[in-house]
Amino acid sequence: MTELPRNTDDLNAIAVEWLGALSDALSNGDQTQLEFLFQQDSHWRDVLAFTWHLTTVNGASKVAAALCGAQLEIKATRFEIDPDRTPPRLVHRAGDETLEAIFRFKTALGRGSGIFRLVPGPQGPTGWMFHTTLQELKDFEEKTGWNRPKGESYARDFGGPNWLDQRIAAQAYDNRDPAVIVVGGGQAGLDIAARLGQLGVDTLIVDKHKRIGDNWRNRYHSLTLHNEVHVNHMPYMPFPETWPTYVPKDKLANWFESYADAMELNFWTNTEFASGSYNDKDQKWTVTLRYGDGSERIMRPRHVVMAVGVSGIKNIPDLPGLDDYAGTVVHSTEYADGEPWEGKRALILGTGNSGHDVAQDLHSHSAHATLIQRHPTTVVSVEPSGQLVYGLYKEGPPTEDCDLIVTSIPFPVLKRTYQMIVKESQKADKELLERLDAVGFKMDVGEESTGFQMKYLQRGGGYYLDVGCSQLIIDGDVGLLQFDEIETFVAQGARLKDGKIIPADLLVLATGYKGQQDLMRLLFGDEIADRAGPVWGFSEDGELANMWKRTGQPGLWFIAGSLAQCRIYSKYLALQIKACEEGIISLELEPETSTAIAAE
Ligand SMILES: Cc1cc2nc3c(=O)[nH]c(=O)nc-3n(C[C@H](O)[C@H](O)[C@H](O)COP(=O)(O)OP(=O)(O)OC[C@H]3O[C@@H](n4cnc5c(N)ncnc54)[C@H](O)[C@@H]3O)c2cc1C
Repeated sequence: MTELPRNTDDLNAIAVEWLGALSDALSNGDQTQLEFLFQQDSHWRDVLAFTWHLTTVNGASKVAAALCGAQLEIKATRFEIDPDRTPPRLVHRAGDETLEAIFRFKTALGRGSGIFRLVPGPQGPTGWMFHTTLQELKDFEEKTGWNRPKGESYARDFGGPNWLDQRIAAQAYDNRDPAVIVVGGGQAGLDIAARLGQLGVDTLIVDKHKRIGDNWRNRYHSLTLHNEVHVNHMPYMPFPETWPTYVPKDKLANWFESYADAMELNFWTNTEFASGSYNDKDQKWTVTLRYGDGSERIMRPRHVVMAVGVSGIKNIPDLPGLDDYAGTVVHSTEYADGEPWEGKRALILGTGNSGHDVAQDLHSHSAHATLIQRHPTTVVSVEPSGQLVYGLYKEGPPTEDCDLIVTSIPFPVLKRTYQMIVKESQKADKELLERLDAVGFKMDVGEESTGFQMKYLQRGGGYYLDVGCSQLIIDGDVGLLQFDEIETFVAQGARLKDGKIIPADLLVLATGYKGQQDLMRLLFGDEIADRAGPVWGFSEDGELANMWKRTGQPGLWFIAGSLAQCRIYSKYLALQIKACEEGIISLELEPETSTAIAAE
């Protein structure tokens, strides 16, 4: 077969037949037949359902071996095209036309959803990508929709505690400790706490900020989200239909407060997570929480979820002569707005998003801003190019289906997708990029031309989504200096190698943050940081290192990323914590002996 059929009935029939064959081969443990169903260059990404890991297996024989191995334990059955989801359809993924179908299945432990993609093969449609996820644990379903709590307990016992009394008591933690402490109450912390709440896991968020939402509120004056509203919804409570496409930071910050209240999250503001140690015997943490007034509370949770974002520790580079500089030095996180700097001169070190945004903000307040570039930067227009990676969310399927499609893309295919997007955005941004190049702004398109999104996943920075600063640079309204032109900083500003001095009243270090491992060392010490290992960036299997899954340190979990990533992966992280709480899986990460990984 060289082509897939065009009409819906035929596509559905092919999808049903292929899934039936896969189901038969799996239940018969027939590895040869399973292998036959996939093309050589095929991929299986499992999110918990078969392996209790987030893991990808590449190549038909390895996929077949891993699936058969895992099936012995998980006993997946009842595979069927999901009638409640987007029906099988033809789409393009990484440039290739493919039949994409969403299916559901059951395992010994719960209910799963998945996606497969077929391409034409010599013997008929054949498997290219296969994706399985655990959606629900049997007997521990979320109490939503028809399964929602009745609320009787708040009203039947006259004189007894009503809803508000119960909320106040739950939030106080007077006589108990939570099972889970979430450190950080940005979207990552809110999302995981909301998910755990639905699974009945007692969870407390602590954040050092004074008010919920301050993580956004305290950012620079003119900030709006960089991607569109429909991509950014939070679990259970989508943003209102009336909201603007690009959500302003204070609006989002206020939403966070409403969200915490509506989702009944236990949230302690003005509370810093100061330190933690782990007792292997009773598998509990001893953590010190420090309130704003300096007093402390010790708690003994079973889990600590780090939701501290990327801004744990500022990265302050070693700059020649900085001690001699007489002006004001701030890290970009400490920069609030340009008003106090009207008519003054500022140098901004770093040409990522923060550097550009600070420069633009200063310029808008009539300050003379000059960017200092240390490394080539990936530049994309916020629109259209910056939105291309989210194109899927405009294809038509509901958010829930889009989220499943997003998780189903294995690393090698993701890489190709990003490379295609880079080509498209370079075409769209051609004029902008040429004009930036002409004024000496140094640019790249990331490792292996994978662009800004891969840079974000690999190192969390190194790119600029242009919201206007590039034009200011092109027009000379914001100055540009290459770092290697500078010899040293002096009292008045920066002295260049040719002896010229660039005077500055303000130096903003838009130099990013240290990784989460550095923060772990600070809060937990070296032993725990080493046990847990690196966080974020890709590990060898093409999965983000230690994100959203068990780490080498029992009871220590990480969640971070964009609003969309936090929405998607908070679900799977919550399921794992619930499974640990119920004794379904061990807190200890088994050595890499899982059948799926062993087959890699
Ligand atoms: C300018 C800009 C625009 C962005 N635009 C988008 C966008 O359009 N869409 C998108 O999805 N993402 C966007 N992002 C990226 C990302 O969504 C944000 O960085 C987001 O804030 C990350 O959320 P988080 O919850 O992981 O971490 P953060 O928001 O950084 O929150 C971490 C929280 O942890 C707290 N904390 C840290 N250490 C401790 C401690 N020891 N004790 C107690 N509390 C602690 C902090 O006070 C903070 O409140 C943008 C980022 C920036 C900077």
